[in-house]
Amino acid sequence: QLESWDRELVWHAFTQMAEHQPFLIARAEGCTLYDLEGRAYLDGVSSLWCNVHGHRHPHIDAAIRRQLDDVAHVTLLGMGHPITVQLAKKLVDLAPAGLARVFFSDSGASAVEVALKLAFQFWRQCENPQPAKTKYLAFDNAYHGDTLGSVSVGGVARFHEMFQPLLFEVLRLPTPNLYRMPNGVSRESATEHYLQLVEQTLQQHHNELAAVVIEPLMQCAAGMILHPPGFLRGLRELTKKYDVLLIADEVAVGMGRSGRMFACEQENVSPDLLCLAKGLTGGYLPLAATLATDRIWQAFLGTYESSRTFFHGHTYGGNPLGAAAAVATLEIFEQEQTLAKLQPKIARLQEHLVRISAHPHVGNVRQLGFIAGIELVRDRATKEPFPWTERRGQRVCDHAISQGVWLRPLGNVVVIMPPLSISLEEFDRICLAVEEGIETATA
Ligand SMILES: *Cc1c(COP(=O)(O)O)cnc(C)c1O
Repeated sequence: QLESWDRELVWHAFTQMAEHQPFLIARAEGCTLYDLEGRAYLDGVSSLWCNVHGHRHPHIDAAIRRQLDDVAHVTLLGMGHPITVQLAKKLVDLAPAGLARVFFSDSGASAVEVALKLAFQFWRQCENPQPAKTKYLAFDNAYHGDTLGSVSVGGVARFHEMFQPLLFEVLRLPTPNLYRMPNGVSRESATEHYLQLVEQTLQQHHNELAAVVIEPLMQCAAGMILHPPGFLRGLRELTKKYDVLLIADEVAVGMGRSGRMFACEQENVSPDLLCLAKGLTGGYLPLAATLATDRIWQAFLGTYESSRTFFHGHTYGGNPLGAAAAVATLEIFEQEQTLAKLQPKIARLQEHLVRISAHPHVGNVRQLGFIAGIELVRDRATKEPFPWTERRGQRVCDHAISQGVWLRPLGNVVVIMPPLSISLEEFDRICLAVEEGIETATA
């Protein structure tokens, strides 16, 4: 009965409902999901990139229960709750230097919307107002969420193109891609090449640009596309030089995923605005944060009558239950030394990828910390993709599910992104299921 209602009533995200097969998870423990019949599946993609310390972690479970005994909801419209304040303090202490203020919302898309609107309003209200700075610069294949503002800066043609008439204008640059580079560009010259394009655009358009929006180091939903090393660093320098704000969307790569708490740390970068969601609550509850510099904050201060206020809010923004889960998540990073323990797992992922990359239909393997994308191609030499309609990535995952491993691909790219807490033994099982799946799906 539940399965037929699931098919008929529940409109699943990013899912063709005409062919949807119900797949209901009854419970989970650590890195294992259990379906209604009690079959076990290793969670190879962290409940869609958000679980950090495993499911049913006792410390997070207890924090949420404790919070329930106090209060579940307090608005942030002119009030607050101590746990939300504590979370803000922890985030500011951990974040790259200069990010000193926190605006809470409830999803990654909202965190990006907030950053876009803050940047826009900043230029109208800063010391030397530049009201012509109303546009954004974003990258091809970017993914920043599914609301119309975040879709405007997004660039995944298959998801976003249809909505073009509804979107605001965005200047766009090619994806800084290390696998598919333009003719004449090598791995060695890629950073310089892509930064030159940035500089040309900033030179020409900085007077009308409010901000550049980027997923630092790796564009995840694009298919785990890895940027050339030094690109983020160079982008930060150029945005400073041309006085354009830098928005770092770390919704996917933040919260330890890259091997550091924030991906920006890898290139010693402090953005003007930093967006966090997904792993912020350990994957437990909807909560997001947009961190901003003091320079931005100052531009919004004034008398009540000046209307410099940021007129924006989400009912559940910074909600105490989510904040309690987030504080507990950050405490576990310390208590369990999550990032130190992650390093051997990152090394193990690299070993698995070296072996998997030898397969004749694996065109490219890409790794950022504990995220991997394995791109399947029809022809390795020409990098000719498999037609997307052949669903090669899904076929790999279909095999994995038969082996008790749950994965979700991005087109022809197989994704490995388990909770940071996974054991080496469980992790090996995921990687072996992927390897076998690739054999099966490309045979
Ligand atoms: C998932 C994601 C988002 C959107 O987050 P939601 O919580 O799903 O709205 C935004 N940016 C990036 C980089 C993401 O991966």
